[in-house]
Amino acid sequence: MPRQRLALALGLCLLTGSSLWALWVYVKTWLPVSYVPYYLPCPEIFNLKLPYKGEEPRQPATQPLYPQPKLLEQRPTGLLTLTPWLAPVVSEGTFDPELLQHIYQPLNLTIGVTVFAVGKYTRFVQHFLRSAEEFFMRGLRVHYYIFTHDPAAIPRVPLGHGRLLSIIPIQAHSHWEEISMRRMETISRHIAKRAHQEVDYLFCLDVDMVFRNPWGPETLGDLVAAIHPGYFTASRQQFPYERRRVSTAFVADSEGDFYYGGAVFGGRVASVYEFTRGCHMAILADKANGIMATWQEESHLNRRFISHKPSKVLSPEYIWDDRKPQPPNLKLIRFSTVNKDTSWLRS
Ligand code: UDP
Ligand code: MN
Repeated sequence: MPRQRLALALGLCLLTGSSLWALWVYVKTWLPVSYVPYYLPCPEIFNLKLPYKGEEPRQPATQPLYPQPKLLEQRPTGLLTLTPWLAPVVSEGTFDPELLQHIYQPLNLTIGVTVFAVGKYTRFVQHFLRSAEEFFMRGLRVHYYIFTHDPAAIPRVPLGHGRLLSIIPIQAHSHWEEISMRRMETISRHIAKRAHQEVDYLFCLDVDMVFRNPWGPETLGDLVAAIHPGYFTASRQQFPYERRRVSTAFVADSEGDFYYGGAVFGGRVASVYEFTRGCHMAILADKANGIMATWQEESHLNRRFISHKPSKVLSPEYIWDDRKPQPPNLKLIRFSTVNKDTSWLRS
């Protein structure tokens, strides 16, 4: 008897199960489709970080107070403030130095400077460095690279906190043109070998100059050129470009924006690498054809800036010449060539 009951119970269970299952299959076809969202944990996503250099930039704790920018306000200076390709032209009155300092200081950037001091030009280093310590990129990290044939001739100038100096021995050439022309090659090699790991921006400056007023982060940009103090009122046909077609630095009368000085250029270190390498290649091509451009590397620099426009242009405040009187539309002189006996220096 118990066996019969058990078989009956099992049979009933089976029947109920099958009916319920058939009912579920039938009902399911009438139910609206629903997808239950569920989350697959993927913990490595939370640990992924973009590889970037340096520390995370600190956010300024307080916001500085500064006048509101007004679209309809008149030009702040008598000078052009924007090029036709939308690069700012930096001059006194176009920016707020305190605000820029506030923005750039927490970024922990390092600004490199290359200067060449070969032959008698070593005598300019002391004045150059002392004035740079007083005025150049104050409060930011700076790395000076001094290229010289004679490291012993470079004076020891006390440097501020976060400021470094490296002396890089180079070969001396007998002709001053060769020394000056070799700068493009030397700078591009130096960036590839070393500077690209050490600095974010790089300025390439003449050594026969001094800083006279603050030069700060307003000058930072991808590719930066400075308007030559001798030609800012001249027309492009009067610019002393290389006019011989055989040279790679050739510029036609119908071309040219500003005439830029060879004593100041810079930008992001990678852009300065491309720029100096391009100029060096053009100089090599000219050499192979037995030609030297009218104003050596300055001619090549000007040629290249026509096809590779600077993203920021510095007014002649940043590349003045002590031998010229200060014109009324330049409010201050920041960096200037010292009065020098050129024939003696180059002899
Ligand atoms: N230079 C140098 N030794 C020389 C000639 C030039 O070290 O015998 C370097 C130096 O940095 C100098 C730059 O090349 O500032 C450009 O030369 P210079 O200043 O004589 O050219 P200028 O500004 O007169 O065109
Ligand atoms: Mn010079």
